[in-house]
Amino acid sequence: MSECIFCKLVKQGFEGGVIYENDNFVSFPDINQKVDGHSLVIPKKHFDTTLDMPSTLGVELLDCIKNTTLKLMKDNDAQGFNVVNNNFGVAGQVVDHVHFHILPRKKGDSRPICY
Ligand code: AMP
Ligand code: ZN
Repeated sequence: MSECIFCKLVKQGFEGGVIYENDNFVSFPDINQKVDGHSLVIPKKHFDTTLDMPSTLGVELLDCIKNTTLKLMKDNDAQGFNVVNNNFGVAGQVVDHVHFHILPRKKGDSRPICY
């Protein structure tokens, strides 16, 4: 069975670098930038969807989302952001390792509100 692509990155390192990490989560640039600074927050352990993650990880998840977003907004001169989390194929999840898209937003960037 082939290994999950995000588990492989956690093990072998992130080519585009790490934006922020704590004990259980890490963030890194998305390979396919929908907007400048588009990044992903993932748990270091494999869970298929948000429903599989223990609720006790909630504090660390929010810590990683907030610190990642603050850095991305500063670095990209953004005035807002979207957090998008697709779960199951029918909702657009392609990589079956739960992940949160962080999309820094700027006036006039012409991207739709939804991912
Ligand atoms: P989703 O459609 O919500 O499952 O999004 C999966 C995301 O993972 C897409 O935005 C891809 O561009 C991104 N992605 C896939 N492989 C990599 C990779 N090796 N490094 C960074 N991002 C990736
Ligand atoms: Zn995985």
